[in-house]
Amino acid sequence: MLTDSFRLWASMLAALLVASLLAAAALSTGAEAQTTGCQGGVVLDAGHGGTDPGAINTKYDDIIEKDQVLDVARRLKALLEADGHPVCMTRTGDQTLSNRDRYTYANTTGARVLVSVHMNGSSESGTDYTTTLFGKWRKDKKLAYAVYGDHLAAKPLYGLVTLPAAEGSGTIARRAPYSFASGVLLKSNMPAIIAETVFITNHREAEWLKYGRTMPDGTVVSRQQQIAEALKTGIEYYLATYPSNS
Ligand SMILES: [Zn+2]
Repeated sequence: MLTDSFRLWASMLAALLVASLLAAAALSTGAEAQTTGCQGGVVLDAGHGGTDPGAINTKYDDIIEKDQVLDVARRLKALLEADGHPVCMTRTGDQTLSNRDRYTYANTTGARVLVSVHMNGSSESGTDYTTTLFGKWRKDKKLAYAVYGDHLAAKPLYGLVTLPAAEGSGTIARRAPYSFASGVLLKSNMPAIIAETVFITNHREAEWLKYGRTMPDGTVVSRQQQIAEALKTGIEYYLATYPSNS
């Protein structure tokens, strides 16, 4: 009796030990344990996360950068994978990641490019434009311009539409790519950019992110999906145009 219960106890303890070892092994593999690899593909980095919310809209306080950029990154992952590009993500949930976590992980993946997805913030709630940031000119410039896309017929971020079109020119205001000394960009081995897709502090953008827009035919257009599709266009243009990173 005592022996049997001891055996049971010992086997449960052994099972617990194995389970915790497996959990520890899973944690030590990095930010994205379920990724099978993205050699030759794309690392998507949803900005902020965990204790770092990023920018927050003052009118819609549930429109928070860390959540919105993860939503866009998940949609972008699906779009890229549907076209055959392997995709890894630095975070798939609400984890707190340092810049070092992000570039260290990216450098283990063998991916061709790293795109860090953000939404911009301003104390002026009327401000809204799209842009991309690069770290090293030689390494990152072509990717920054491909995703910004002002020279492309199929306009990536440059052609990100405003909704409704009647309220403006039909496309979002733009700022040309510029340099930004982020560790994620400077210390990643592959071409890397930050996409400052839209201003989350802009109340109209926040409204679109929160509710989408109901079109005259009754369909609801997702702003997050529009942003993901714009980023996809630019990333795929880069991968097709520059078959190697040299
Ligand atoms: Zn940000």
